[in-house]
Amino acid sequence: MTTLLPERLLASVRSSDSIVINGERRASMSGETFDVFDPGTGEVIGQAASGGETDIDVAVRDADRAFRESWKDAKPTVRAKALLRLADLIEENTAELAQLETLDNGKPLWETTNFDVPMTAELYRYYGGWATKLTGDVLPVSPLFGPAFAYTRREPFGVVGAIVPWNFPLMISAWKLAPALAAGNAVVIKPAEQTPLSAVRIAELALEAGFPPGVMNVVTGFGETAGAPLVTHPLVRTVAFTGSGEVGKLIMRSAADHLKPVHLELGGKSPNIIMADADIPSAVQGAMLGIFFNQGEVCCAGSRIYVDAPVYDEFVDAITTHAGSLKLGHGLAEGTQMGPLVSAEQLERVGGFVERSREDGATVAVGGERAKDVNNGGYFYRPTVVTGTTDDMEIAREEVFGPVAVVMPFDGEDDVLRRANGNANGLAAAVWTRDVSRAHRLASQLEAGTVWVNAYNMIDPTMPFGGYKASGFGRDSGAEALLHYTQTKSVWVNLDR
Ligand code: ADP
Repeated sequence: MTTLLPERLLASVRSSDSIVINGERRASMSGETFDVFDPGTGEVIGQAASGGETDIDVAVRDADRAFRESWKDAKPTVRAKALLRLADLIEENTAELAQLETLDNGKPLWETTNFDVPMTAELYRYYGGWATKLTGDVLPVSPLFGPAFAYTRREPFGVVGAIVPWNFPLMISAWKLAPALAAGNAVVIKPAEQTPLSAVRIAELALEAGFPPGVMNVVTGFGETAGAPLVTHPLVRTVAFTGSGEVGKLIMRSAADHLKPVHLELGGKSPNIIMADADIPSAVQGAMLGIFFNQGEVCCAGSRIYVDAPVYDEFVDAITTHAGSLKLGHGLAEGTQMGPLVSAEQLERVGGFVERSREDGATVAVGGERAKDVNNGGYFYRPTVVTGTTDDMEIAREEVFGPVAVVMPFDGEDDVLRRANGNANGLAAAVWTRDVSRAHRLASQLEAGTVWVNAYNMIDPTMPFGGYKASGFGRDSGAEALLHYTQTKSVWVNLDR
C-alpha cells in the first residue's frame, strides 16, 4: 500500500529529523527517535525525532527571538499575506497532505481529502482575514483629574505552546496555530507521538508561505518528555491544549506554578437525542456520522444516543444494520468507509471498554470485536452498538474514543434532558426533531458548548468550539479563539500636558 506514495512523501515519512526550529529540520539533541506506525498494517513506516527538554528550550528561545525580531511588529498585512498564502499552499498540496495524514492516523483518504485538509486551509484563511482586523477600542473615560485620551490595544503574548492530539492532527493544529500567528505570536507545537508527520510538513509550507524562520516551530516527541517542559518553560506565555481530561489536569496544575493561562479542549460523552417526531432515516444517518466518523475518535462524538421510546426498536434495528455494513479498510484503499484505530494501545483500550460493558450486563447488538479479517496486523475494530445499558454503567458514562455507541430509550423531554445533562462532560449535544419550539428549548437547556439540531459534527472556522463542565474551557475557532492569543493593554494619554 505504502509503495503507492510519491518518493517525496516517503522521504518525509522515513526521516528522523522531524524537529523544526528556526526553519531547519533537525534530529533530537539526544539522537533518540521513536517509531511511526501505519495503523492499517501495524507496520513501522518511519522514525520521528524524540525531542526532550533541551530541544524544547532551543525551540522556545528561538521562537522568542523570532517573535521579538520579526513577527510581533510585522505589519498586519504581512501576517495576513503569510496566512493566506499558507492556506493556498495547503490546498495546492492537498493530495500529499491527505496521504500523509491518512498514513499516519489511519483515517480514510476521502476524509482527509474532503475534510481535514480543506478545513485546515480554511482555518488559516479565516485567521488570515483577522490579522488586519484585530482592533482595540477608544473608551469614553471620565478621569477624576485632567482630560485624557484612552484606548486599548490587543497585543500578542509572545511564545505560545501548543500541544495537540492524534485524531485530527492537521485541523486541531490549525485551531491553535492560525489564531496565535494571526495575532502576532510565535509558536512551538508538539504534535501527538502517534501522528507526528503532518505538522512537520505544515512548518515547511509555512516557510514557503513567507513566515520568518522561528515563528512556527515543531518539536516531535512524547508528552512527558517534550510536552511537559513546553508547559513549564518560562518563555512560553500561554498554553493551548486539546487532549484527555487527565493530561489537561496535569497541564493546568503545572501552569498554575508558573501563573500562565491555559486553554483546554478535553473529552466528551456527547448525547445525541432522537425525538419520536424526527425524520428517523435522517436521524439514523446523523447518528452514524456522529459516532462512526473518524472511527469515533472524535472528542465530540455522539456516543450516548437517547431514543424516544416509541421509535426505539425501529432506530436500533436501523443503526445496527447500517453499522454492520460499514466497509472497513486501509485508509488508502478505494472504497474504505472506516479506517483502523490509531494505535495498538487504542485498540486495546476500546476493546476493554466493550468487554467490561458485557460484564456489566449490557448487550452488544453489533460489532464488539477486533476485525482481523481486514488486516491481521492493522488496528481495526468493528463499528459497535451497545444496548441494555443504564446511565451509570462505565460504557454509558466514560469517553471510549472509538466506534462504540450506546443506545438508550427515554421517556419524554424532561427525562432525556436530565439524563443528557447528567454526565460530567459537556462538549456537544444534538437533537433530532421536527418541532421547532422543542429544538430551541432543548438547545437552550442542554449543558454543552455546541448543540446541533437535525445535524451532527458541523463545524466551521467562524463558529467557536469548546466545552462546558469537564470538557474544558476556552474556545477554538471563531473570533473568540483570538482572545486566548491576545492580551489587552490599556493606554492613557494625558491631554493636559
Ligand atoms: P490521548 O489520550 O488522546 O492520546 P493525551 O491527552 O494523552 O490524549 O495526549 C494529547 C497530547 O498531550 C499529546 O500530544 C501528548 O503527547 C500530550 N501529553 C501527554 N502527556 C503530557 C504531559 N504530561 N504534559 C504535556 N503534554 C502531554
